[in-house]
Amino acid sequence: MGGSILIVGAGLSGAVIGRELALSGHRVEIVDERDHIAGNCHTQRDAETGVMVHVYGPHIFHTDDEEVWNYVNQFQTFVPFKNRVKTTSGKQVYSLPVNLHTINQFFGKTFRPDEARAFIKEKSDKSINQPRTFEEQALRFVGKELYDAFFRGYTEKQWGCPPKELPASILKRLPVRFNYDDNYFSHKYQGMPETGYTDMVSRILDHPNISVRLSTRFHRNGAVSGHTFYSGPLDGYFDFELGRLAYRTLDFERFIYDGDYQGCAVMNYGDASVPFTRITEHKHFSPWEQHAGSVCYREFSRDCGPHDIPYYPVRLVADRQLLSDYVTRAEATSGVTFVGRLGTYRYLDMDVTIREALDAARFYLARAPGDTDMPAFLHPPL
Ligand code: FAD
Ligand code: UDP
Repeated sequence: MGGSILIVGAGLSGAVIGRELALSGHRVEIVDERDHIAGNCHTQRDAETGVMVHVYGPHIFHTDDEEVWNYVNQFQTFVPFKNRVKTTSGKQVYSLPVNLHTINQFFGKTFRPDEARAFIKEKSDKSINQPRTFEEQALRFVGKELYDAFFRGYTEKQWGCPPKELPASILKRLPVRFNYDDNYFSHKYQGMPETGYTDMVSRILDHPNISVRLSTRFHRNGAVSGHTFYSGPLDGYFDFELGRLAYRTLDFERFIYDGDYQGCAVMNYGDASVPFTRITEHKHFSPWEQHAGSVCYREFSRDCGPHDIPYYPVRLVADRQLLSDYVTRAEATSGVTFVGRLGTYRYLDMDVTIREALDAARFYLARAPGDTDMPAFLHPPL
């Protein structure tokens, strides 16, 4: 039989690590300061409309990792789902990611793929060889007009700073396609959990060796006997003693509509003059269900204050020294491993979160008996 384990956070990181260790005979206690499990992918039915709502913003499961796909399918039926995002810019609605339809509509053309490719190549800023910033990356790949319409305003709203101050890596997440494929993601496996992410996490946690305490805030001064896996914010573990790592938080403005408000799950707003980044109409994430009413969230992004929920790690160059200082402190702390989106201060999709959680649990289980040297990070923030 294994020893006792404390896990901070009942999100995907905590749940997956907890289950793997429980299956190997460890007793696992999981605490979460929220009053529900599943962390940021929490889903619940809206009381007024009955629609399944993605409480902390839209979550679509997409992965190329077959093991992770098989893993989640043990706990849920995944209904095939393609995210087809639209964007409103100026007075028109376009298709994302930028594809042949977007290009033809935007420029009033009837290009075939090769013609569009040549046209966009002509538009691209060829003076930029090695794009370092978001802006350079966009200007190099799509040119000024498409950048101004779809990326500049949205990105300023999302990140609260000019795109020339952001790393190019943020835009690399979005492809440009010279065909009519409007699937937002390119992964082999994509789907929506039929009964929601929270139900999936509750099944992951369903093991006699796992106990979960909700509405319980962890503090490092509390008595802990075995190893701790911590999926809360890295700076929060140290009571922000060195300062706060920058995050963006989100505000959701909920509204109800009698019918179908926008005809799709996610509508982005590219114009800087519109204060929100996007509207999510949740019932379109469950097209197999029937609901007369509809619940929508307008999503606003802003700097994360001390009492806000941290959503997106900002990771500007200015944060690197502070991050590095926290990493040094974490590495000097024994008995705790920092995991997940907040614990490693990285933007992680759900599939990567699960992959890393499986790896962390396996690393722990593969150690020689009596070996107490579990590293602070298996996936370092820097
Ligand atoms: P979290 O889900 O944040 O869980 C951490 C938990 O720790 C929380 O429940 C928190 O309450 C708890 N906690 C923190 N500190 C303490 C403490 N001191 N004491 C007790 N408990 C504590 N991924 C996708 O794959 N597809 C998507 O479409 C997608 N969309 C996203 C949209 C948004 C708006 C955001 C922000 C993220 C999105 N993601 C998406 C990423 C996804 O949310 C993460 O991959 C996943 O939630 C990470 O899980 P986690 O367990 O590491 O962290
Ligand atoms: N982005 C943009 N316009 C859009 C959608 C995205 O400029 O209509 C930029 C924005 O900076 C965003 C990044 O591309 O942060 C990555 O987009 P993604 O849709 O992956 O963001 P997420 O769903 O993670 O918020």
